[in-house]
Amino acid sequence: MDFMLTEEQEFFKKTVTDTIDRIVTPKAQEIDEKDEFPWDVWKEFTKLGYIGLRYPEEMGGMNADKIMCMIFYEEIARASVGFAQSVIMNMLMGTYFLFRFGNDAIKKRCLYPAIRGEKIATICFTEDQSGSDLGATRTTAVKDGSGWRINGTKMWITSGPICDFCTVLATTDPSKGLKGLNFFLVEEGTEGFSSGQTINKLGCRGSVTGELVFDNVWVPDENLLGKELGKGVVYVGDILDEVRLMTGAMALGIAKGAYNEALEYSRKRIAFGQPIAKFQLIREKFAEMDTLMNAARMLLYYGSWLLENKMDCRIIAAEAKILATEVCLKVVDELTRIYGANAFAYEYTPQRYFRDARFLLYGGGTHEVLKDFIGRTLIGKL
Ligand SMILES: Cc1cc2nc3c(=O)[nH]c(=O)nc-3n(C[C@H](O)[C@H](O)[C@H](O)COP(=O)(O)OP(=O)(O)OC[C@H]3O[C@@H](n4cnc5c(N)ncnc54)[C@H](O)[C@@H]3O)c2cc1C
Repeated sequence: MDFMLTEEQEFFKKTVTDTIDRIVTPKAQEIDEKDEFPWDVWKEFTKLGYIGLRYPEEMGGMNADKIMCMIFYEEIARASVGFAQSVIMNMLMGTYFLFRFGNDAIKKRCLYPAIRGEKIATICFTEDQSGSDLGATRTTAVKDGSGWRINGTKMWITSGPICDFCTVLATTDPSKGLKGLNFFLVEEGTEGFSSGQTINKLGCRGSVTGELVFDNVWVPDENLLGKELGKGVVYVGDILDEVRLMTGAMALGIAKGAYNEALEYSRKRIAFGQPIAKFQLIREKFAEMDTLMNAARMLLYYGSWLLENKMDCRIIAAEAKILATEVCLKVVDELTRIYGANAFAYEYTPQRYFRDARFLLYGGGTHEVLKDFIGRTLIGKL
């Protein structure tokens, strides 16, 4: 066994942390308050090439291993989860199906510019009546000449109001449920494709989220992203572990940011003539938070190591996502206790961590659904 990061990973971690603290951290509170996409931060940050972290160098990527990716997700979410959400959407789910199934023209037109940060990408699963239950997808794609005609409305789409293209899940055969689902590329400017209502969110603000409408949208055959019809859910399954680990890393990032704030505050806040950090009950909180964060990070890195080495990590990835998110909720809760009444004021940061932490309960799979999956897999067929 080896628990050490490699020299390259250590160097990467330091560079990423410094860069994020220079470009993103100082803007985090403003991004949350304005709840507008921070184009200035995006332009400065995407120049550095991190969007292509997991993609091959010949595509403009960095070919980084899975541990490095987790380090990145954690660090950027530590600074600003609103900004992180849009960045990571371009890095992973917004571009994955183009990378895997797009032809050369699609890659040149959409994937490479998205990796360079010149185009905004997103993925559309969710509808008003289908979240966890993808089998209830109502958006349809019907064969029409040399292409497909798409109709439906997607909800809760990250970067939806500003996206240049999206990968949309639609059914080509509603009678087949999950086995009728496929992914299609739809680009901005396509007739019938528009942005609907923008959602005023509790947290993860600055990542603009909204509805996308597909009203008789026609796309050519090459925009069907997948080799075989009806295999959409199988293709999602191939990236699911990475997505779950990524959301776990984001949760850990928020936890780390909250922990750092708690530490700084408890050192300088005076009560009964001494810094509150000197009280045993406050110290206990730090002992607990650190223990939980270390445990979550170990599970997360273990899952990422399994993934990197192409080993089965389905259960560990789901467990790591759940643990990291629950730890995150616990840490932000402790932050609001340590900060006292100031945690209740919008001018301080704890309220932001408190709101942002809730987001990780849904992205990457709800805990009820993940626990059901873990339990079913462990128990096996009865
Ligand atoms: C900030 C934000 C950004 C998002 N971005 C995107 C995006 O870019 N693209 C996109 O497609 N979606 C996006 N989503 C939506 C997200 O993927 C969904 O919220 C998620 O899939 C859960 O679906 P739901 O919210 O409809 O909950 P539901 O699936 O309706 O679940 C409601 C409750 O029922 C429980 N439940 C459901 N099924 C079961 C079961 N089988 N067993 C036990 N309990 C169950 C759930 O655990 C939950 O407690 C985003 C959401 C947020 C908050």
